[in-house]
Amino acid sequence: QEEASVQPRSDEKRVLSNVDVLEGAPALSEHWTLFETNEAMFNEARTSQAATLIFALRQNNQIETIARQIHTLRRQRGSALKIIVRETRASLRATDERLLLRCGANMVISWNAPLSRCLTLIESVQGQQFKRLVPEDISTLLSMTLPLKLRGFQTWSTFCEAVGNMVNNTLLPPDGKGVLVALRPVPGIRVEQALTLCRPNRVGDIVTIGDNRLLMFLSFCRVNDLDTALNHIFPLPTADIFSNRMVWFEDNQIAAELVLLREVGPDKWGAPLTGTSDEKKIINAEHDGQTWRRIPEPLRLLSEDRGSAS
Ligand code: C2E
Ligand code: C2E
Ligand code: C2E
Repeated sequence: QEEASVQPRSDEKRVLSNVDVLEGAPALSEHWTLFETNEAMFNEARTSQAATLIFALRQNNQIETIARQIHTLRRQRGSALKIIVRETRASLRATDERLLLRCGANMVISWNAPLSRCLTLIESVQGQQFKRLVPEDISTLLSMTLPLKLRGFQTWSTFCEAVGNMVNNTLLPPDGKGVLVALRPVPGIRVEQALTLCRPNRVGDIVTIGDNRLLMFLSFCRVNDLDTALNHIFPLPTADIFSNRMVWFEDNQIAAELVLLREVGPDKWGAPLTGTSDEKKIINAEHDGQTWRRIPEPLRLLSEDRGSAS
């Protein structure tokens, strides 16, 4: 039995593509049309029915525009269109990729796929019907990528509240809201001192101290990326600073741990050492975009005017 929607359309073989996708190569066949910009491609695509449409994404600031264009095309032109996003440089977070797919893209092709593989992937969506539901209002989808509007140190209660809000937000992906980590410093380092080495960069990454532990919530971080994220955040290997690590990443695990965290009384909450402003460099190290480079200099962890007893 044939459905009307799977009948071939006249433009089924057409490929409308941003010129950057082919990395300088000319159009591959008579079916291909190349456009200088995503915008020009989008305008042409607004009359298509079953063509293949390939956006090029070079920078994260293009994500929202492309997401809106995909959403419009999918809602207005239907499920026979094959919509692809080709990432030309590393720029997409997992949350961004999820957004593009939810807006109606069939596929996102990573920057590190070579051109030959990219063409195979483009072939692989031919004949495909888009089956996922695309909500009418894109703002629901956009709000799913927004992290907490907080970064860095928070008081214990603010921290618990913020994590609670994330975990209970049903718009966010189930079991994909982020990672909660508890770190206990090695003997000889107080948790306040460990905090001075903790430098979250990304908005949505928050930290608190209390009960002799340092707690972090890394928004949207996946558990297998935890070490990558911690390496961005600490200028020293975390094993040198912490002897014990506990990790929670599923919603119900995080919610259960939150119950315990909320029972910790204010007498056990910690506060940052005074005089350690956010701007001041705690350790003489620089991140070159790839890795931390330590600039050798003596480092004293215990200041002379404070004992190790707390
Ligand atoms: P990457 O830098 O190797 O990070 C891989 C993954 O580790 C990220 O995947 C994320 O899950 C986690 N991660 C790393 N650093 C942090 C952090 O500071 N906070 C949190 N919460 N998680 C972190 P994701 O998000 O899918 O990003 C994939 C790749 O996209 C990153 O690989 C990086 O190459 C690039 N990227 C994403 N956001 C940025 C950014 O703001 N600036 C730069 N320069 N690159 C970014
Ligand atoms: P942000 O999310 O607050 O991240 C601030 C800085 O943390 C980034 O500056 C980058 O130096 C570092 N950072 C955060 N996450 C990662 C990561 O996964 N890998 C690496 N290597 N570094 C990371 P940057 O790159 O100048 O970005 C400035 C702002 O631009 C970011 O602030 C964010 O708002 C936006 N942005 C950058 N890349 C992406 C992206 O791939 N997706 C989204 N949604 N936003 C991005
Ligand atoms: P790596 O090469 O395995 O070096 C690990 C650590 O050994 C360095 O940590 C540094 O403390 C020490 N080290 C290695 N080579 C030298 C050296 O020639 N002189 C001195 N004084 N110390 C050295 P660091 O500095 O945090 O660097 C971490 C990683 O960053 C290095 O691992 C390397 O992969 C990369 N890196 C840092 N600086 C450079 C650089 O100038 N060029 C290159 N290609 N990579 C660098």
